[in-house]
Amino acid sequence: MSNARRPGYAEPWQDPAEEPFVRIEGVTKTYGKVYAVDDVSLDVFRGEFFSLLGGSGCGKSTLLRVLAGFEVPDRGRVLIDGVDMTRVPPYLRPVNMMFQSYALFPHMTVAENVAFGLKQDGLPKAAIADRVRQMLDLVRLGGLEKRKPDQLSGGQRQRVALARALAKQPKLLLLDEPLGALDKKLREHTQFELVNIQERVGTTFIMVTHDQEEAMTMSSRIAVMDAGRIVQVSTPSNLYEYPATRFVASFIGAVNIFNATVLSQDGDRVLARAHDLGIDVVARSGQPIPAGIDIGIAIRPEKIDVAEEAPTRADNVIDGKVVEIAYLGDVSIYHVETAGGAILRVQETHAARSADPHYNWGDRLYLVWNAADAAVLTS
Ligand code: ADP
Ligand code: MG
Repeated sequence: MSNARRPGYAEPWQDPAEEPFVRIEGVTKTYGKVYAVDDVSLDVFRGEFFSLLGGSGCGKSTLLRVLAGFEVPDRGRVLIDGVDMTRVPPYLRPVNMMFQSYALFPHMTVAENVAFGLKQDGLPKAAIADRVRQMLDLVRLGGLEKRKPDQLSGGQRQRVALARALAKQPKLLLLDEPLGALDKKLREHTQFELVNIQERVGTTFIMVTHDQEEAMTMSSRIAVMDAGRIVQVSTPSNLYEYPATRFVASFIGAVNIFNATVLSQDGDRVLARAHDLGIDVVARSGQPIPAGIDIGIAIRPEKIDVAEEAPTRADNVIDGKVVEIAYLGDVSIYHVETAGGAILRVQETHAARSADPHYNWGDRLYLVWNAADAAVLTS
């Protein structure tokens, strides 16, 4: 998985003296009996590209609408740049929102669409023309200012919507599934472009997406949501490598999770009986976990090595039989069935060129992994 953010990007959330730019405090929003957002607290820092990630109906858009001011929460507060905005109407907030549908005016040209909010604010004509040119340069739409939305491709329409949303120079831009209407190839390209633009203008972005790869590629940090609540907030790599719960581990990337019971702990090495595998496994945990506790053990498919011979020294080894192979060009995915009936997913990277698969259906092999690469999940 790649990341569109440049190295050296400041990490303000690591600095206890840093004031959050957006502070959400205990926000709850219900619709009848549905808790769309359930007691959410969250800090976002200036200049972040922050993502709310979760499945359909988990409350992402509702939380975004609370930030925009289209919804007033039942409980809790929203502070932007230190000011309580909970009951401030949308047009008085230093915030703009870009909708998934783009909501462009079909009868207006590209330039008129981008100028719309500036005209409403009564900006002088010359200033409007300047800003529109600047914005269209930013999103690389110079030369298309006289076109109407129906004379543009999907990607171009998306960029008009972005230019219009940024034209009023909001301090905070909210984006609800901004790439949802684009096809896969264009979406990947646009992910990098959007991050690039965000880094150039320096505006704080909060994006809603259900697409974990999109969130991973674009975000400084991600809040994973489930059923109106935030389950974990962290950087993309930290969420992937150190998921806090089974939900996060399986929502982000592919993973094998075994049910296990802790037998003992030696420093950060936890020995546990893995019931689905019929063996004892070793995994790493930074926290003390008492014997007898039921845990989950998560290991990513690319962290399992495949061997034809049993290794003499390894933290974890289990043998099995190949029951499925998916050849994807860059990698192959093997499903390996163990004696106990559990099926493990293993990924092998094709670093060298070869048209022959390494392993075939029915092959017997050994799966090997390090304790340090297996996460202990207590919830
Ligand atoms: P997401 O954006 O994550 O898909 P939403 O925030 O749109 O989720 O919705 C969260 C929950 O709140 C869902 O159960 C949804 O049906 C409900 N909901 C959202 N908006 C309304 C509304 N205006 N009226 C009633 N229920 C709503
Ligand atoms: Mg939504």
